[in-house]
Amino acid sequence: MNQMQLKILSRSENEIFARNAVAAFALPLNPTLSELSDVKTAVSEAVTNCIVHGYAGEEGWITIECTAEGSRLHIRISDDGKGIADLEQAQQPFYTTLPGEERSGMGFTIMQTFMSDFSVRSEAGAGTTVSMSKDFGAKAEANAQ
Ligand code: ATP
Ligand code: MG
Repeated sequence: MNQMQLKILSRSENEIFARNAVAAFALPLNPTLSELSDVKTAVSEAVTNCIVHGYAGEEGWITIECTAEGSRLHIRISDDGKGIADLEQAQQPFYTTLPGEERSGMGFTIMQTFMSDFSVRSEAGAGTTVSMSKDFGAKAEANAQ
């Protein structure tokens, strides 16, 4: 078992740092390039949500926790921002509270699709936590059967 914790300010340049830090942490688990790219995309979506929705452009802390266990990577990304009132609605494809800007409402759907496991918890006014994990080698195993 290996673990890391990372705290970043909600600035857009830190989104790139966060996804590359998680990718670097995941490397010893021998992910394929495509698995690594899935993880980076999911982290990028989660961190962007903290920045644009959770803190809505204000400065705040985003915490990223990773655990490597066997061939599985667990990632938890949380903010102490405004939270989500209706979680079910927020997870619908194309649902966004920032329409007309560059948001398409696909962030949660992308995280769900690209990761093996995904869940989100939130409390209005208190913050949001996304938990997700990826099983490296899961596809190769399925193909070999
Ligand atoms: P896209 O991700 O495609 O750019 P989006 O961010 O609006 O668009 P999702 O990532 O699926 O779409 O998020 C759906 C909605 O859930 C957001 O519009 C926002 O209202 C809410 N949301 C998501 N993450 C957070 C967060 N960390 N804090 C507060 N609200 C959030
Ligand atoms: Mg989003």
